[in-house]
Amino acid sequence: MNRPRSGGAGRFVNRKGLTHVAADQKVLVIGGGIAGLSAATKLATLDIHSVIVEKAPILGGHAVQYACKATEKCVACAACIVEEKWRQALGDPRIEVSTRTRVVDVSGRNANGYRVIIENSHDSDSPAQTSIAADAIIVATGFTPFDPAGKPYGYQQFANVITNLELERILREKGLPYCPSDNRLPDQIAFVQCVGSRDAGLGHLWCSKVCCASALRITGLIKARRPETKITIFYIDIQTFGKDFNTQFGQLKNKVKMVRAIPADIFGSDKDRLRVVYFTPGEAQRCEESFDMVVLSVGITPGQDNRTLKELFQLLPTDTGFLEDSARKGVFIAGAAGGPMTIADSVASAGRAALRAANHLRGVT
Ligand SMILES: Cc1cc2nc3c(=O)[nH]c(=O)nc-3n(C[C@H](O)[C@H](O)[C@H](O)COP(=O)(O)OP(=O)(O)OC[C@H]3O[C@@H](n4cnc5c(N)ncnc54)[C@H](O)[C@@H]3O)c2cc1C
Ligand code: SF4
Ligand code: SF4
Repeated sequence: MNRPRSGGAGRFVNRKGLTHVAADQKVLVIGGGIAGLSAATKLATLDIHSVIVEKAPILGGHAVQYACKATEKCVACAACIVEEKWRQALGDPRIEVSTRTRVVDVSGRNANGYRVIIENSHDSDSPAQTSIAADAIIVATGFTPFDPAGKPYGYQQFANVITNLELERILREKGLPYCPSDNRLPDQIAFVQCVGSRDAGLGHLWCSKVCCASALRITGLIKARRPETKITIFYIDIQTFGKDFNTQFGQLKNKVKMVRAIPADIFGSDKDRLRVVYFTPGEAQRCEESFDMVVLSVGITPGQDNRTLKELFQLLPTDTGFLEDSARKGVFIAGAAGGPMTIADSVASAGRAALRAANHLRGVT
């Protein structure tokens, strides 16, 4: 028969000396994007209960807004995994979900875990605070897309300068890249890569890892649905993550114009067109081309609540602003909260975080 291990309330040791997680032990998962959902479902397979607190009204995080990019076959963008995990989480009795909820404070911490104050704002006039006991924490609060308003690209000035995330939403809703200004279909589209990433001026030296593949998959989708659309991609270099990437890129290369330069400026012109100014490598020559739509491939930057979370759970600061695990404190990071990554990598990272949290509950670190 199991008996409590001395000094370790909530943990049990069986005759073989293996530790189990007690039925009343619980993991708090902060963030209900693909990483948070994956962490909770992984914990459920280990029979560990969790509570997901998600500050947005719905689960799924950024990736729930992405369009399926399949043309004649699936291009492995992984967007559909999110809905699958969402259903899995909502159907599992071991997972509690609280949306419109955030962590506001930590009222206590001891060897067995945390007492965390959460605030639910379903009723925005009187948000309700409650406290929950958590034996381990998984922080899966994701990323903040770079805000390109400070760049000289006319974002928020010209309606048809949009971000890649905005284009994802248009494609998901309407199937084709209709211009926000007047709902026409653009004949010429430019993608500007590395907006907010690999930018020494901003101190963002990292590659966001996902935006080259995203731009190429979207390009493939638009070309398949409306082949007459002319597409130009302005880039520094194309990052080839993923096993099918080279094949997909090879098939697309001849259908799009690749320009190895990052635009210096974007101006409006008559007839609702956008003039893109760029310099050829070595700044040898000033060039200008006109487009109907410009898509800014904004990158992944640290989550906006990272500073607060670091303070609440006393995590170590990092150079980049992304978060790092603290096994000693029972706090584990999952998904893009820890740095740029794809959906598949977020699922894998969440699986690792869940296993580490399970080991922490068992007293194994
Ligand atoms: C333009 C673009 C296109 C992309 N396209 C692809 C693609 O095609 N394929 C691919 O594999 N990857 C793609 N990615 C990457 C993908 O978006 C990420 O891998 C994925 O979203 C990471 O999931 P996450 O759960 O870690 O973070 P997120 O998706 O950011 O989810 C985090 C969740 O936590 C919540 N949250 C944040 N702070 C708190 C808090 N304090 N309390 C409670 N909840 C909180 C947020 O509301 C959100 O729901 C793309 C990224 C970008 C920027
Ligand atoms: S992985 Fe992407 S392209 Fe393939 S079916 Fe799912 S959403 Fe569509
Ligand atoms: S993935 Fe491509 S667009 Fe995104 S930061 Fe890296 S190189 Fe730039």
